[in-house]
Amino acid sequence: MTTQPRQLIRQDVQSMHAYAVQDATGMVKLDAMENPHRLPEALQAELGQRLGALALNRYPGERVNDLRHALATYAAMPEGFDIMLGNGSDELISMLALACDVPASADGQVGAASVLAPVPGFVMYAMSAQLQGLTFHGVPLTADFELDEAAMLQAIAEHRPAITYLAYPNNPTANLWNDAVIEKIIQAVGEQGGLVVMDEAYQPFSSKSYIDRLARHSHVLLMRTLSKFGLAGVRLGYMMGPKALIAEIDKVRPPYNISVLNCECALFALEHTDVFAAQAQALRSQRGFLLEALTRLPGVQVFPSDANMILVRVPDAQKTFEGLKARQVLIKNVSKMHPLLANCLRLTVGTVAENQQMLAALEASL
Ligand SMILES: *Cc1c(COP(=O)(O)O)cnc(C)c1O
Repeated sequence: MTTQPRQLIRQDVQSMHAYAVQDATGMVKLDAMENPHRLPEALQAELGQRLGALALNRYPGERVNDLRHALATYAAMPEGFDIMLGNGSDELISMLALACDVPASADGQVGAASVLAPVPGFVMYAMSAQLQGLTFHGVPLTADFELDEAAMLQAIAEHRPAITYLAYPNNPTANLWNDAVIEKIIQAVGEQGGLVVMDEAYQPFSSKSYIDRLARHSHVLLMRTLSKFGLAGVRLGYMMGPKALIAEIDKVRPPYNISVLNCECALFALEHTDVFAAQAQALRSQRGFLLEALTRLPGVQVFPSDANMILVRVPDAQKTFEGLKARQVLIKNVSKMHPLLANCLRLTVGTVAENQQMLAALEASL
């Protein structure tokens, strides 16, 4: 009997679908919350010089600590806290699952660690849990995408999750959740010994951040990324939390996970925060323009946004998605992700010209 090499791969991995990245060749790319703006040419040249001069023959070294400090200053990290870096926050999410993978005890008295998050939410919370053999508990949001307080508290009491994720604002719904409900959830998780991760991937576009409240708790981590900020290609995520807790999670990090190129690009960006702040301001202003224009389209329901994306509900999501695609505009059809997202599409806020083209294509595709 011969064994196919692929049979050696875990059964659950064989039955998984790979994370799908849509082909965007020749399209107006509004599917992945990327910042549409690039660096000004003078800065591109300056960065090129700096990257060219790096010692690529050496493993990443002390420079990574310069970046940790620069990010901590940029984010106004509280006293007594520490910061760790990931190859995008996707890697931090994977490391959290790895660090919390406590197996079930033989007598079944203590359950295996689990991960909990509101759904619909960011797909990597569930995927990282599943890959690590942890149970994922998705708690449905209300129909208007608010946290279901009673359902969340009930699920926390029942499952005692090791990690509870709260994306602030949430993806793909783009909204911030009620702060009083968030505090109740954080308190409930704390009482049963779990961790809460506030995921602020969209912080540059948000009217609020949890950073000022972070120091109140010893079981809350705050995760951010430079991806939506304007460096999706660089792959740099960071996570802040109480020193002793970060020290434990940092042990599962691959030693050289941030390349010298990632690191130097991120440092360069932090020396030019004014450029990125102006880009974020332009996108927030375009978001305002889009929210208003979309509201005027007949049959389109528009949801509030604190991010660089807008969720809309249309009469026929598949037809509208295909219509946009035929007009060279790529967005994300999220309508099959969760029943609450029936007929919903997620639009990334782009440049003035891209948004005009998207609006025209949308109107023609309804
Ligand atoms: C995009 C996103 C991330 C991950 O971004 P990286 O590119 O891996 O840093 C994390 N959380 C949420 C909610 C996101 O939308």
